[in-house]
Amino acid sequence: MNEKNCIFCKIIAGEIPSKKAYEDDMILAFHDIRPVAPVHVLVIPKIHMDSLNDINQDNLGYVSHIIEKIPDIAESLGITNGYRVVTNIGEEAGQSVKHLHFHVIGGKKLGYLG
Ligand code: AMP
Ligand code: ZN
Repeated sequence: MNEKNCIFCKIIAGEIPSKKAYEDDMILAFHDIRPVAPVHVLVIPKIHMDSLNDINQDNLGYVSHIIEKIPDIAESLGITNGYRVVTNIGEEAGQSVKHLHFHVIGGKKLGYLG
């Protein structure tokens, strides 16, 4: 499931360093290198999928596990006053890394979308 030349697959494999916020056998959360807010982590499945467009019955468990764990991750990062979860899909949304990731952003008052 490890895709060659995928930067986030390399982070999962430990070939590229990351500042981890949470990890288990299915998912990894790590701090974004260019944070847009005081707290900005990325939560990714430990299997390669390009984006949420690739969701299917076989990989749904990874995605639901991410959703299940996000509140715990947010709490561990101290953003209990509110936070935003974003996943960019494709070119026009500005997706720059083609491995599904959920941005978890908080720690300040956030502006509206778009
Ligand atoms: P997106 O634009 O939605 O594809 O988001 C990709 C995110 O990955 C951006 O916010 C980048 O700052 C972040 N990013 C890229 N490379 C790394 C890396 N090596 N470690 C942590 N975050 C990264
Ligand atoms: Zn990947």
